Amino acid sequence: MSLSPIQRTLLKVIILGDSGVGKTSLVQRYVHKKFNQKFKPTIGADFITREIQIEGKLVTLQIWDTAGQERFQSLGPAFFRGADSCVLVYDVNDKKSFNSLQMWRDEFIKQTDIPYPDKFPFVVIGNKIDLDGGASREVESKKAKEWCSSIKGPLGVVPYFETSAKENQNVDEAFFDIAEAALFLGCPQDIYYESMAGSLTEIVEPQNRGCAC
Ligand code: GDP
Ligand code: MG
Repeated sequence: MSLSPIQRTLLKVIILGDSGVGKTSLVQRYVHKKFNQKFKPTIGADFITREIQIEGKLVTLQIWDTAGQERFQSLGPAFFRGADSCVLVYDVNDKKSFNSLQMWRDEFIKQTDIPYPDKFPFVVIGNKIDLDGGASREVESKKAKEWCSSIKGPLGVVPYFETSAKENQNVDEAFFDIAEAALFLGCPQDIYYESMAGSLTEIVEPQNRGCAC
């Protein structure tokens, strides 16, 4: 029987931000294409995956949603290990959640020990743009973009997206950018499989791409 190697790239994406900004809703919208109005705090660090193709390459996005109290003390080291990208989420109707972004970024850097934080791909999302048709907005896009320019990123500025998980605005676009940033600027693992009668068996140890890690 002939075996053909299939290459998949695994990207680990971590979502951080204050409780209630819509992190779980964004991930649910992106992966399961649904929205649940009821607020159910996430319990336990967990991830869900979605397969996508970028430039013909099969990519598995492993998205880690923050758990419970959204405090770093409660998130074990496994949560951060091997992160390829970090998404910082705030609610455009909640200034406090925007002011927390700096803290989330600083803590992420502290916890992960990444050697070159300025080269690490962060992406910022301002969520809930649909609320009251924009009437309750507390943070203007301009202000958010200014902050994204003030922190350095591998591309100069940190990419910024405004989304509505509820109305499905800009969610796919944001995650595609996140995946691209993780793929080209992070340290993704290439996993090789051999295809046998339709089943996939992992056969080769993961490899690192050449990157700043
Ligand atoms: P998390 O704590 O950051 O994971 O936040 P959740 O995803 O649990 O969302 C908190 C609350 O905000 C829930 O009641 C959601 O239904 C609501 N929510 C999330 N995203 C949006 C959105 O884009 N627009 C509106 N109007 N509500 C949202
Ligand atoms: Mg949650």
